[in-house]
Amino acid sequence: MKMFKIGCHLSASKGYADMAEVSHKIGANTFQFFTRNPRGGKAKDINEDDIKKFHEKAKEYGIEVILAHAPYTLNCASKDENIRKFAKETMADDLKRMEYTPNNLYNFHPGSHVGQGKEIGIKYIIEILNEVITEEQTTIVLLETMAGKGSEIGRNFEELKQIIDGVKLKDKIGVCLDTCHVNDAGYDIINNLDGVLEEFDKIIGLDKLKAIHINDSKNPIGAHKDRHEKIGEGTIGIKSFERIINHPKLCNIPFFLETPNELEGYQKEIEILRNLYKN
Ligand code: FE
Ligand code: FE
Ligand code: ZN
Repeated sequence: MKMFKIGCHLSASKGYADMAEVSHKIGANTFQFFTRNPRGGKAKDINEDDIKKFHEKAKEYGIEVILAHAPYTLNCASKDENIRKFAKETMADDLKRMEYTPNNLYNFHPGSHVGQGKEIGIKYIIEILNEVITEEQTTIVLLETMAGKGSEIGRNFEELKQIIDGVKLKDKIGVCLDTCHVNDAGYDIINNLDGVLEEFDKIIGLDKLKAIHINDSKNPIGAHKDRHEKIGEGTIGIKSFERIINHPKLCNIPFFLETPNELEGYQKEIEILRNLYKN
């Protein structure tokens, strides 16, 4: 059965139950949030009462899945050992906390190799993943598709596949596709969505695709820029998003709006997308 899972990026400052409540109010049935300050500070302590309330609300509002986002400042591919160590410890701590809300998704930016080459960068990312992912965890860790600015790793499906190939616990790793990023990376989701998905399937496998960041782009295909735009106001355009949310291979995957917006703005975007979703 088709079920439109749509949500947006929310502030986690008031806790999980609040995010469930806000989501429901704006017509969403899922949400994304930063596990801690994006600059990578200490995470707030888990409040068990908040978690309990969250589970009640999630049940009531039909929230089946949520997506946690690691601080975007982490760099698992850094040549600096201390930076990698910090990324590893942060991710390990995040994954422990994720088990308070089991069976959900944890997304991170693979990292930038900044000079020492992508092969070494990819090796470092794999090392960290194999250290932080545990057999017992119920969370699936997602590699985000990147726009390929600077020395970003994850600019194409081959690089993501190379990382996945190195991860031992294969059922705990997946991919989050960011529409702005893949456009900027050079994948033509505007004119050739089927072709892009076929390529994804051939290289990575569509069974690994667990979440979609639905962002328009300020830049044309292949710009390697990563500048998000509100839905329908960028170069990707509303027609493309209509095809994306209704594509038979994508329509059951959760979608997350993450281009900064006011809550009312997100609410409107969600309504527009809901009206375009064909049941
Ligand atoms: Fe991201
Ligand atoms: Fe994203
Ligand atoms: Zn981005």
